[in-house]
Amino acid sequence: MKNRKYGKPVGDIVKIKNDFFEHNDKMLEMSAFQADSLLCQPKRSMCKICHEPIKGEKLYTSQRMGYYLCPKCGHLNSEFEDTDDFANRVYIQDSYENNYSEADREKYENRLNTIYIPKAQFLLDSLKEDGIEAKDVHLLDDGAGSGYFVRAMRKLGADANGIEISKAQVEFANTMAGEEILRQVDSENIAPIISETKCNVLSFIGVFEHIINLDEILECIRKNPEVKYVYLSVPMFSMSCVFEASHQKCYNRHAGGTHTHLFSDSSLKYMAEEMGFEEAASWKFGSDMMDLYRMLCVSLDQNGNSALKDYFAPKFLSMLDDLQMVVDKSEFASEIHLLLRRKG
Ligand SMILES: [Zn+2]
Repeated sequence: MKNRKYGKPVGDIVKIKNDFFEHNDKMLEMSAFQADSLLCQPKRSMCKICHEPIKGEKLYTSQRMGYYLCPKCGHLNSEFEDTDDFANRVYIQDSYENNYSEADREKYENRLNTIYIPKAQFLLDSLKEDGIEAKDVHLLDDGAGSGYFVRAMRKLGADANGIEISKAQVEFANTMAGEEILRQVDSENIAPIISETKCNVLSFIGVFEHIINLDEILECIRKNPEVKYVYLSVPMFSMSCVFEASHQKCYNRHAGGTHTHLFSDSSLKYMAEEMGFEEAASWKFGSDMMDLYRMLCVSLDQNGNSALKDYFAPKFLSMLDDLQMVVDKSEFASEIHLLLRRKG
């Protein structure tokens, strides 16, 4: 298929993700707290995407959590249900300072340029293939966080705004932008906003996996004919899951924490069809090899082999992009950017 793109050089992202290397134990502790919060929820009775009853054997267990692979749609579901109670326990309101230094701004711009501009560019390039120019794009970003994606889209010439639950993040985003690009909405108002929006493109960057009432949100999109495209990024059932399951003393970034289920090509296809949409373009670039690299480094440190780690690290890093490209092309990578088009 022509509109499928693979790979993305790691570059500066190594620096941005440094916390995972240096604070493994602290991150693992946080992950254990999140697992505790999920383990006390009701058992998941059906697949998050296709609603097939969950039964039979688990595929695997990692950090005390069991995972089932849905035989109908290929979605990976954790054993326990994500609920409002779970969300209240794990999504802690971030606190932001009111004064931002020049260094904060620099960090923001750096993250915007290295991570979000490429995501926005891919969307605009893909829409162009479909005959939609940047000036014709009216985008609503749902779960807009600190406003990076909205800023990136605006920088590239599109009309873009966002909605976000966290008041602190909205204030931070609008301060960084120097204008109002996001507005704060309470979670119960998101479905009505999606039902009534006149925007032709909706985006959900790293959001679907956290939505508790995902069925309701998808139904609102399906029923609003103004929405012609949906751009989403979600975590996938991938090599990273295997690396995590085999390195239980290393922080599990991917399966676990606030990720209680993971997508697959087939579950995304199922979801798109239920919404009345189809794939217009996709871009796969995972962090699987970065995860493996981190787990090897952390494990070597843990068992007293730091000298070997120092010797090995630069050799592995120089191969990282090539190795990840193999994983990306194998269709078993940890992340996808997917543009869905409403069927005609
Ligand atoms: Zn399923």
